[in-house]
Amino acid sequence: MLQACRRPFMLLYIHFPFCRSKCAYCAFASGPGSREDIAAWTRLVCAEARLWGRRLAKPELQTVYLGGGTPSLLPPESLHRLVHTLQSAFVWPQGIEWTLEANPDSFQDPAYAKSLYDLGVNRISFGVQSMADRELDLLGRAHTAAQAVRAVTLAREAGVSNISLDLLWGLPGHTLTQWEHTLEQALALKPRHLSCYGLTPEPDTPLAGDLEARAIPPLPDEDMLTAMYDHTVDALGQFGLEQYEIANFAQPGWESQHNSGYWQGWPYLGLGPAAVSTLEGSRWTNPTHLAAYARAVTQQTLGQSAHQLTCRERCLETLMLQLRTRAGLDCSTFAREFGTDPLTACPELCAQLQNQRLADIAAGTLRLTSAGMLMANSITERLSSVLLPSH
Ligand code: SF4
Repeated sequence: MLQACRRPFMLLYIHFPFCRSKCAYCAFASGPGSREDIAAWTRLVCAEARLWGRRLAKPELQTVYLGGGTPSLLPPESLHRLVHTLQSAFVWPQGIEWTLEANPDSFQDPAYAKSLYDLGVNRISFGVQSMADRELDLLGRAHTAAQAVRAVTLAREAGVSNISLDLLWGLPGHTLTQWEHTLEQALALKPRHLSCYGLTPEPDTPLAGDLEARAIPPLPDEDMLTAMYDHTVDALGQFGLEQYEIANFAQPGWESQHNSGYWQGWPYLGLGPAAVSTLEGSRWTNPTHLAAYARAVTQQTLGQSAHQLTCRERCLETLMLQLRTRAGLDCSTFAREFGTDPLTACPELCAQLQNQRLADIAAGTLRLTSAGMLMANSITERLSSVLLPSH
């Protein structure tokens, strides 16, 4: 169990596990919830926030991120209660990044958009996924492309200018032309930030079942996926959205501070069912189901399953996360922490990556190029086979 202590800062993630319906490709800890479930969730998360506020001696927050699920299903009065509780349990400096994830179908009311702005939400991440209704149907999404346009317009009219859109490429039967269409339509909304993920059909989802049964067209082949990724990097770059992580693009200065914090290994506290926390090298996951989570909150057993990350786990995680970012792997910091400098331990691999234009090395930092990022997993594997400690 973690001891009470004061921290300079901490990322705060709150997991809202409910959605209007379940998308065909989704394997997240989320699903439909009743009004009573949402009310219970609000009560429990507030209780958990007070608990950690006491245990950690009211730590200072660096960012706040309410994700899900579909947090835009939270009624304004519940959100008000949650924000009020967080502000008394933690030190919440004015103006920190405060993100709410939203789905377009639950973001069609101007009064709702205004209430979020009034509660200080200063960044909204919309789950748009596609700007073609036929593709949205295939994914089992509950919204239309027109609703996505209206949601973004309402958020901006309410005063939230930091808008991010999530998009998916590599859908069953997806062509480059179809992906170009979605990107063009999304860019026409002038987002500050875009997250573009390649679809990975998770086992046991309806989409994976349909693919296996050949009830829907197959996924694009490797060449097509590479063409889609290359087009994404080029098109967004021309629009002034720079790739700062394999799947994330932003106007300079509008990168997600919350996600950048994860990639840099900052401490984070997760509230809500299934939320993960990592503080002082210790990690735990809250129970996934609402009833089990409620028991853990009531009995104050949250965090009891925490385990200290091993040096090997931290080393692998650092490689995996930092190699995916444009900031890259700071090899001297890595050497100080793990005792081995990747540049001196793997000179041949580093030279090969440079010659193949998969990486740039300058001032002790190993940065993968856009082409290299696409191979981040295999590069991480090769580096880790040399660098990972045995414990
Ligand atoms: S909206 Fe997101 S979290 Fe909810 S079911 Fe769809 S993909 Fe899953």
